[in-house]
Amino acid sequence: MSAPSLPWLDAPLQRALQQRAHALLIHGPAGVGQYEFGFALARALLCEAGEGTQRPCGRCTACHLMDTHGHPDFKLLLPEALREPLGWQDEEARKKDAKPSKWIRIEDVRQAIDWTHQSLSRGMAKVLLIHPATAMQEASANALLKTLEEPAPQVRLLLTATDPELLLPTIRSRCQRLALPLPPREAALEWLRERGLAQPAVLLDAAGGRPLEAQALAGEGIDAAAWTALPQRLRQGDATAVAQWPLPRLLETLLKLCHDLMAVAAGGAPRYFPADSLLPGAALPALAQWSRELTQLSRHDEHPWNASLLAESLVAQVAALWPAAKSGTGAGRARVTTLGR
Ligand SMILES: [Zn+2]
Repeated sequence: MSAPSLPWLDAPLQRALQQRAHALLIHGPAGVGQYEFGFALARALLCEAGEGTQRPCGRCTACHLMDTHGHPDFKLLLPEALREPLGWQDEEARKKDAKPSKWIRIEDVRQAIDWTHQSLSRGMAKVLLIHPATAMQEASANALLKTLEEPAPQVRLLLTATDPELLLPTIRSRCQRLALPLPPREAALEWLRERGLAQPAVLLDAAGGRPLEAQALAGEGIDAAAWTALPQRLRQGDATAVAQWPLPRLLETLLKLCHDLMAVAAGGAPRYFPADSLLPGAALPALAQWSRELTQLSRHDEHPWNASLLAESLVAQVAALWPAAKSGTGAGRARVTTLGR
């Protein structure tokens, strides 16, 4: 399986091919295609098309070997948890039911370092892609330092990171940086439309302009209609709206809702939700407090407590942001006011 083609990455890819650095740090917001970019760059570096042909050509033996995950001069380091989502799961690993690790194993890093010292199989280059480099723990990162500093000839190292500041400074300083910006809105919308997403603009906003993230939301069953209805359902304390959501997704969504409610309360425009889906009237001090609590919660990425109980109490917090309505029609009146602005 080859990585999907993301048109907004074409220009940065051609620029990256001009860069001669042996180690490149690909960074930018999550959900714009860091892995896809790294894979496409590796494919281009290994492509055997002749001079004057745009690489990767997609037709030569090397390109086909990349597509079938069989190129001997390409190595990918991934945490176990990303193997299946990115199409690199093998049958044997699929049978294990242990929770897949989110770290890249140090044995794999050491093995990859040894691999970089082996001779070329096909003669273009040897490319090691580490996605994301922030999934290497300190010992792994330290093991890689010497290779980053003095790689064997013709070895190219491609590291990705959403937040390069999380990498050891010694790793950062040995890489040339390549920033992937958010794609132009129209290109992102067009790509989502081609994938059959209804109301792509709503989901692209929901994802903060990151098209792969918008597609992931749709894949989780969160379509534009569900997203638009969400603030109102949460306002009513309807926990079934988010019952099947993984906790990180819920926390991130509540942070977005909180951001937008604060923006609206301060007279600004929302960023993630359609303006007419948001009820005004939540008090700024309550929102500020809620924002602090959510931020604190989202820093714990492994939650030891009962996730569904936590989800329920989080939803109850949303409903409490608005002063209690005097009658059952309070929410309805507020919504009419919003629509009439
Ligand atoms: Zn090719």
